[in-house]
Amino acid sequence: MKDCIFCKIVNKEIPSKIIYEDEHALAFLDIEPVNVGHTLVVPKKHFETIDKMDKEEYDKLSEAILKISKGIMCLADGLNVMQNNKEIAGQAVPHVHFHLIPRYNDDGYRFDWKKDEDVTEKENNEFLEKIKSFLK
Ligand SMILES: [Zn+2]
Repeated sequence: MKDCIFCKIVNKEIPSKIIYEDEHALAFLDIEPVNVGHTLVVPKKHFETIDKMDKEEYDKLSEAILKISKGIMCLADGLNVMQNNKEIAGQAVPHVHFHLIPRYNDDGYRFDWKKDEDVTEKENNEFLEKIKSFLK
């Protein structure tokens, strides 16, 4: 896609610190790392969000993510794998990307995941029934 920054990185129009590349995937260091080694893994083909990907492209991307994750786990004490879709979910660049964030015992980095006390069992049950109907 013409104006997509990640497509430009894939096409080497914009330089990046590439840590891995194959036919389908590119992995490079995030220019705004939240931790040392914060890596982005992207499909070379442009997909805005994960639901737009076909199985073959997703499988190939997953292989790269697994390979890189194994490498990071040799260098770090832990690893967060995150992927955001749409602005409401924190997606800053509309080209599918996985964040691989190495974690170190002394990094002090915290995720503030708290239970939302306002979520009711009724709402969750309704969601459960709806999502199951999509996955049949
Ligand atoms: Zn793109």
